[in-house]
Amino acid sequence: MSLTRPDLDALPAYVPGRSVPGAIKLASNEVPYGPLPGVVDAVAEAIAGVHRYPDMGVVALREKIASRLGVDADRVATGCGSVALFEHLFRVTCLPGDEAVYAWRSFEAYPIIGATTAATSVRVPNTADHGHDLDAMAAAITGRTRLVIVCNPNNPTGTAVRKAELDAFLDKVPDNIVVALDEAYREFVTDDTVPDGLVEYGDRPNVVVLRTLSKAWGLAGLRIGYLVGSPEVAAAVRKVVTPFSTSGAAQAAALAALAAEDEMRRRVGLVVAERERVLTAVRKVYPEVPETQSNFFWLPLGDKSADFAAKCEAAGVIVRAFQGDGVRVTIGTPEENDKFLAAVL
Ligand code: PMP
Repeated sequence: MSLTRPDLDALPAYVPGRSVPGAIKLASNEVPYGPLPGVVDAVAEAIAGVHRYPDMGVVALREKIASRLGVDADRVATGCGSVALFEHLFRVTCLPGDEAVYAWRSFEAYPIIGATTAATSVRVPNTADHGHDLDAMAAAITGRTRLVIVCNPNNPTGTAVRKAELDAFLDKVPDNIVVALDEAYREFVTDDTVPDGLVEYGDRPNVVVLRTLSKAWGLAGLRIGYLVGSPEVAAAVRKVVTPFSTSGAAQAAALAALAAEDEMRRRVGLVVAERERVLTAVRKVYPEVPETQSNFFWLPLGDKSADFAAKCEAAGVIVRAFQGDGVRVTIGTPEENDKFLAAVL
């Protein structure tokens, strides 16, 4: 007799990108340029007050996010990374037996969250070119569906759903089902036909947009993400959030980072330019690499994935292999990318 649920053994573990001393880490989709200006000082100041609980309402930050996005602060919830917000969203939408529909392969946290909340996961295989199959996802919706996730751009494949496709899909989803647009990598999108979920669908009450400060904004280590939805959904999420899980340091750092938007955009520009350069080089040898609108790309190498990752590691570059499926490589600095290219081409 085990002390924990018997089904945990079958649960896939979340695999973090490994940090190996001395090696280049291109495994976790971070931006390589360090914290944005102002962040370290803001955190130092916040640390002086760590004997007190932080503002549980996260008021200043929620107001700042809301004003940037042109929405009311009552539509915003923050969490300990957007991964935590996904957990909250599963909890506020799904009762036992209810279904959450999402593409697969996609962000590895969805099935883990799905398996330990009340939801039943319904995974819809990606198309042959590694993107969401929105027709099949629409067909997978049943009377029990309460949550649908569209990861745009998709982790780990980098592919993106276009506005016309998403318009048509959203029109098919009954308006009593929450559609979560996971836009963790939104800042790296350069194709104008890929919709900004808030701009295009912000007035649909059943659409929620989740973003993070972990990627383009350089705050992965402080764990802060946000959700924008209807006041009803945002309030429900704030209700179930683990109390004080957006730390004072995270709140201060996020405010400082958001004040450095120009520098964030400059860094994203560097990453995007490198993405194009690296992709052109990689595709000469691996033409099967799909398009990417993110700060990483996907090598669909099947059972050769582990060998490819081992070869990179032997050359001092850590990438992320998904056993038997593919390898995800994050764009780093030009020097880091050169080292990766030298290892594999
Ligand atoms: N969504 C996607 C698609 C992601 O790739 C990630 C991070 N890997 C997240 C959400 C969560 O990011 P965080 O918890 O760091 O905000």
